[in-house]
Amino acid sequence: MDETNIKSLDRLTNEFSRLPGVGKKTAARYAYFIVTGSKEQAEGFADAILEAKKSVRFCKNCGNFSDGDLCNICKKRGEKTICVVKEPKDVLAIEKAHSYTGSYHVLHGTINPLANIAPKDIKIAELMQRIAKGQTEEVILATSPDVEGEATAMYIASLVKPYGIKVTRIAQGLAAGTQLEFADEVTLTRAIADRKEV
Ligand SMILES: [Zn+2]
Repeated sequence: MDETNIKSLDRLTNEFSRLPGVGKKTAARYAYFIVTGSKEQAEGFADAILEAKKSVRFCKNCGNFSDGDLCNICKKRGEKTICVVKEPKDVLAIEKAHSYTGSYHVLHGTINPLANIAPKDIKIAELMQRIAKGQTEEVILATSPDVEGEATAMYIASLVKPYGIKVTRIAQGLAAGTQLEFADEVTLTRAIADRKEV
């Protein structure tokens, strides 16, 4: 993408191009959209970014997005069933399917020796603290069916099982390598309903 040599416009394009999945061309289109739109629209956009950044944090219990200490799911649902996922967007994907009524635990990553991500680098210790409270009857491992997701699921299973808690893995209705967020609602519902004990 050629620079326009208008410093502020190039800067805006550059910022948009940092967004995941946004290339230079799309970034330029976004930047033009902003500069050719109304002042109110631009202010609303900028304000929404700052407001979200200021108010959204992670739930102290499960690691999901929250605007307070505890997220809305942890406030309402108990610790009886905990569904373990990689990222907050996986919680959104499963919630959208409206079939799961338990709590979640967001790992904020998966174990990946090649990228130097060890168990201590993701929120496994936090999960174990929840389990140690003794209220949990089942842990559902819902990390993606890729190499890292499987390795992470098996590692967590080995930690949780000694507590005598039922550990299940979501069914492989999801094709290997499928990211949870891209699975449709029917597939996700079935993957959870057909979970297998590990
Ligand atoms: Zn929570």
